[in-house]
Formats: sequence, C-alpha cells, structure tokens
Amino acid sequence: ETKTRERLPAIPQGIDKSTFIKALDELGDQLGTDNVEVNEKPLVDGWYMEHPNTHDMMPILDDEELVASAVVYPSSTEEVQRIVLWANKYSIPIFPISMGRNLGYGGAAPRVRGSVVIDLGKRMNKILDINPNDYTCLVEPGVSFYALYEAIQAKGYDHMWIDTPDLGGGSVIGNTLDRGVGYTPYGDHWACHSGLEVVLPTGEVIRTGMGALPGNNTWQTFPYGFGPYSDGIFSQSNFGIVTKMGMTLMPNPGGYESFMYAFQKEGDLEALIEIIRPLRIGNILENVAQVRHAIQTLAVKGLPRTKYFSGDGPIPEEIVREQLRKMPIGDHTWLYYGMSYGPPHIRKYKLDIIDQEFKKIPGARKIDPSTLPEDEYFWSRDRIAAGVPDLVELLWVNWVPNGAHVAFSPVSPIRGADAMKLFNLGKRRHDEFGIDFLPAFCVGLREMHLIVEIVYDKNDPVKRKAANDCLREMIDDAAKEGYGEYRTHLVLMDQVAGTYSWNDGALMKFNERLKDALDPNGILAPGKSGIWPARYRGRGWEM
Ligand code: FAD
Repeated sequence: ETKTRERLPAIPQGIDKSTFIKALDELGDQLGTDNVEVNEKPLVDGWYMEHPNTHDMMPILDDEELVASAVVYPSSTEEVQRIVLWANKYSIPIFPISMGRNLGYGGAAPRVRGSVVIDLGKRMNKILDINPNDYTCLVEPGVSFYALYEAIQAKGYDHMWIDTPDLGGGSVIGNTLDRGVGYTPYGDHWACHSGLEVVLPTGEVIRTGMGALPGNNTWQTFPYGFGPYSDGIFSQSNFGIVTKMGMTLMPNPGGYESFMYAFQKEGDLEALIEIIRPLRIGNILENVAQVRHAIQTLAVKGLPRTKYFSGDGPIPEEIVREQLRKMPIGDHTWLYYGMSYGPPHIRKYKLDIIDQEFKKIPGARKIDPSTLPEDEYFWSRDRIAAGVPDLVELLWVNWVPNGAHVAFSPVSPIRGADAMKLFNLGKRRHDEFGIDFLPAFCVGLREMHLIVEIVYDKNDPVKRKAANDCLREMIDDAAKEGYGEYRTHLVLMDQVAGTYSWNDGALMKFNERLKDALDPNGILAPGKSGIWPARYRGRGWEM
C-alpha cells in the first residue's frame, strides 16, 4: 500500500530558511532550476521501481527522521564539483545516492535530516564503455544492472555476463560502493571493480589506479596503479562522490546448471556448512550460494503470513511444515541453491563430487528441477546465478501488510559451529520480540554473510520499534561473540561502527582523521558508517 505522509519542514541545521532558499536559487542558476527540487511535497513511498529519492520508503524510525531538504540532479562531474563547492560555501550537508534503491539499508535517505540529496543517477546514467576484448565496462552512477545487461545483449556480446544482486534495479556503482553481493563467481562486486573517478569533499577530482596516468589504457584492467591503493576509502564511506567506475565482466562459461538440495533438520546446518567449506574454497561450489531456511520458501511465494496463521508472534513451525508438504519441494528445513558452470562434462565432474558430499547428511535430497513449475522461486535463483537481472525476490516483502525490511548481516568463517551460534542467537532474539526469523547464509569464498531480513509493517510504530530493538540486541549479542556486520542500515551505523572498537577505537580515530583532512567543513554525508566530521562529533548526533 502506498502511503502519503504529513510533512514537517526540513531544512539543514544551522541555516535559516530564507538563506537556504537563496542558496538553492544560486545552485539552480548553475544546474538549471529544474534540477534543484525542494522537498516540501508529501512523502510518497511508491514501490521498488518507482521509489522516492527524498526519504527511506522502508522507514524504521519516525517518518520525518531521515528526510532530504532538497534533491539536486547534476549532469556531469563538473556539476558535482559545483554542488560540492556550493555546499562548502553554506556549510550544507549533502548526501550522494546513485539510484537510491538501497532498501533494507536506508533507501535514498540521508543520515542527517535536512541534507541535500544529490541524485547522481537521474542524469548521469551513461554506459561510457563496454570493452568486448578486455571484458570490462565503465559506467556512470545511474546505470542499473538491468541497463548494463540490456546494453550487452543489444550489442550481441554473448561471450560476456554481468553479475547482479537479487534485484536488478539497483545501481552498479551504488551497490558496489556499499560492497553489495551478487551470485555468480563475480559476486563480490567490490573485488570486481577496477578504477574510480571521485569528486573529493573540497571539490577536486581524482582518478584512482591506472586512471591517474594520462593516456593510459589499463584503467579497467589493472585496479591498483602505483602507490597506496586508495579505492578502499571510498567504499561505505563519506570521503568522496564517485562519478565513474570500471567493472570487470565475466566470460560466458559455456553452459550452466542450477541445482538445489533439501535438508531435513535444523541441526543439519552444522554438518552442511562443514561440507560446504572445502568445496567452496576449492571452487567445486563456484558461486556465492545461498543456504535458506524453509520459512523463506513459504514467504517468497508472495502471500501474506495471515494466509497461514492469524495469531501474533512467530508463525509456528508446524504450520510452516504443513504448508511445505503441499508445495513441489516438500518438507525440509534448509535449502541449498547453487550453480555449476561450464560445458556438461566439466559440470558433471563437479556435480558428482557435490552430490556425494551433500548426501553424507542423512535425509539430504537433490531436487530435480524438471519437477518444478515455471513460477517456482528456484528459477529466479537460476536466472540470477546466470547474471540475468530479476525482481522475484521482492515477493517476500509481502509477508506482512505494508511490508518493509531491515537486515542483520553478520560475517563469520564458513564453519558449522559459527553458523549454529549465529542461527541460535538470531532465533532467540526473534522469539523474544515476536518476529518471524528468516535466515539465509550467503557463502563467499572464505566467509559467509548471514542475512536475516526482518520484515515489518512500516505503518505500525510498535512493529517498527520491535524490529529496531531486535536488531540492536542482535548486533550487540553478535559483537560479544566476535561477529561484525558487513553492511548496515543508516540508523544502526553508529552502533555497528562502535563494535569495531579494537585498540580503543583506533580504526574510527583513523577514519575521523581522514574525514577531517578530506572534508574540513564536514559537508559530505555526515554520520555515514558512523563517521562524523569534527563539526558534528560528540554533539548528540549518534544514535
Ligand atoms: P544507492 O542507494 O544509490 O547507493 C547505496 C549507498 O551508497 C548510498 O546510500 C550512498 O551512501 C552510497 N553511494 C551511492 N552512490 C554513491 C556515489 N556515487 N558516491 C558516493 N557514495 C555513493 N543488495 C545486495 O547487495 N545483494 C542482494 O542480493 C540484495 N538483495 C535485495 C533483495 C531485496 C528484496 C531488497 C529490497 C534489497 C536487496 N538488496 C541487495 C539491497 C539493495 O536493493 C541493493 O544493494 C541496491 O543495489 C542498492 O541500491 P542502489 O544500487 O540504488 O544504491
């Protein structure tokens, strides 16, 4: 349900309204008045493909907490520089988004209420290069996974694949800067990028890696260049605005085959993860695969949970099992979704090993894909693991009315004991707060992200608070056991940053020193990833 919300005026702190409006007029003179929009209309949430760029369409706090005062639309790197110089002149906080579909992590919202959001993607949306020999591309912030996929198809470059996250509508740059993941062997997007162009908070432009050498032709093929590797400080940070990024593309492997295994008992997770580890590190399991809990099989059908259970609190396990028994995959507790790449004889070699290993778990079953109907979720995983963008994953957001979600995403080694510890930790807190527990383990090369999406009714303040409280407890519980999040929602960034506290918070002190050096007026995305500039630090902004 799309909801229109009442508004309070949002203007940046420390500036009066008339000066702010005058400053926006001045910016309008430079960018064109159509490209500077004051955010005074009612807040409309829309849906994933028509998402707002003024706020988080999946709010977890009060509606008015994280909203923009205005949105501006640059058309070039030079215009981004002008916006940055303007922000410095008036000490106005600015917050860059590429496309603003960072749902579950804050959407398009700025961390500081009243910031001016720079929507880079609307006008800077060109694919600047696709190189069919090097298997690389160079993109602007508004290029989505869909757009890149379609451009490669349109050129007839069948020999190249992209990697896409579960939803294809996000920005290649935005997702990669937030260190997002996809599901082919190129799923670690940050590891697969090569070269950035960045506008610094004081207005200068730099190119990283080989891009710093004028006239070079290896910007997208060798990520490091010479000297310190600076790209890292521009991911999940507030140290610069990325205006171009190089990305490597995957060679078409010459065939592929998705497979799925079902495991019966909750406790099978421990043995399964132990089996996965050597296979994954040894590249027999080739992609960022998912181990998903059975309740997700039900949730991703897209029907509300009230269809199965009208009570409050977590849906009883017996009801989930009863429903599963009626579905093509049948009763189970865990599903493993994987993909094998290459021509048939290469796949067979790997799939035989996998089959032999997975079946060491009593009751393990391989599901024959030919028995699954076309609308079965398996086929969405199949497309995604073949680099074909998709939207089916959105379906589980319907699990509750006015569905929104927020993620708990701790990282651990690929070890059975860690998986069980994180599973039990999450389960205990979800039970305490009366929330359905939807865990999925995404297995990378030497680590796994546990992704737990809390789906809540965004129009119900009690449910929102329960989601927020549950997350805060889980973050602390996990940190006590030595686990940290790989990424988090805007409202949880201070807490998560606080858990990375080794040696008296030495890493945050380093980040703050960088922030103050690069952004002396503290205008760029204050508070992003818990990094506050001097002007804000210790003045009650943290939450
Ligand atoms: P943006 O919102 O544009 O950017 C993300 C953040 O990066 C911004 O808030 C900003 O702080 C920063 N940023 C963006 N652009 C710049 C720039 N040019 N310069 C400096 N900083 C910048 N994510 C995954 O990674 N994998 C998944 O499988 C996945 N599955 C999802 C499933 C569902 C159902 C939903 C709702 C979400 C899922 N997401 C997933 C989360 C999210 O949708 C994607 O990560 C999405 O790509 C992020 O939005 P975006 O690309 O529009 O980035």
